[in-house]
Amino acid sequence: MKIIMLGAPGAGKGTQAKLIAEKYNIPHISTGDIFRANIKEGTKLGKEAKQYMDKGQLVPDELTVRILLDRVSKDDCKNGYVLDGFPRTIPQAEVLDTEVAKLGEKIDFAIDVDVPDENIIHRMSGRRSCPGCGKTYHIVHVPPKKEGICDDCGKELVLRDDDKPETVKNRLDVYHKQTQPLIDYYSKQNILRTVDGTQDMNDVFTAITALLEA
Ligand code: ADP
Ligand code: AMP
Repeated sequence: MKIIMLGAPGAGKGTQAKLIAEKYNIPHISTGDIFRANIKEGTKLGKEAKQYMDKGQLVPDELTVRILLDRVSKDDCKNGYVLDGFPRTIPQAEVLDTEVAKLGEKIDFAIDVDVPDENIIHRMSGRRSCPGCGKTYHIVHVPPKKEGICDDCGKELVLRDDDKPETVKNRLDVYHKQTQPLIDYYSKQNILRTVDGTQDMNDVFTAITALLEA
């Protein structure tokens, strides 16, 4: 099964993608996570991506598509994957469609996790991430057992640089201009499914599994 997660930054794509990946035993692929791992390792790709990410802008399509296609060509993607944060532009979606079609396959579902802008700022200012394992928390909705510390690896949680309010505003503008047109793109392919992302995360997941298994 090949699934795409759509939605504004902070809508809960990563949270749901992780649950989907566990339930259906497919890899969870986040281009944002790949970029952050490269930034942490100090690679050339990381240095280039960081310039855009810190400003809340998109990393150029050419670079993003290259890393995504490289990732989905790996063996563990043979039975599908759940993409989180890719595609974010129409050209990215078109390249993905072309590459998937070359294999005689198709994207099964694009799931839009729908959350209004008013809720997004609260979601993102409360998001805390583990710099060690990448696990995500929310100070109110998904708190760690011990305040400020990752449950899994014991590292101190951080606020992502691009989750600061001034950058979040930019990211939302970028989402509306460049990414939201994908809703129409996948709707025309009849693979768009929309869930109310303002519900409790377990209810969002129940709604998603119902759609995938309908
Ligand atoms: P995205 O991957 O779309 O940027 P995340 O999955 O990282 O978003 O979620 C953004 C923030 O909101 C995180 O702090 C996460 O813990 C929290 N969150 C995710 N889903 C929900 C939900 N249904 N209700 C409340 N908070 C949520
Ligand atoms: P995310 O972790 O999905 O919120 O992504 C964090 C940042 O990484 C985004 O704000 C972009 O700067 C960059 N990024 C992630 N995925 C993409 C993509 N598909 N296209 C362009 N930039 C991306």
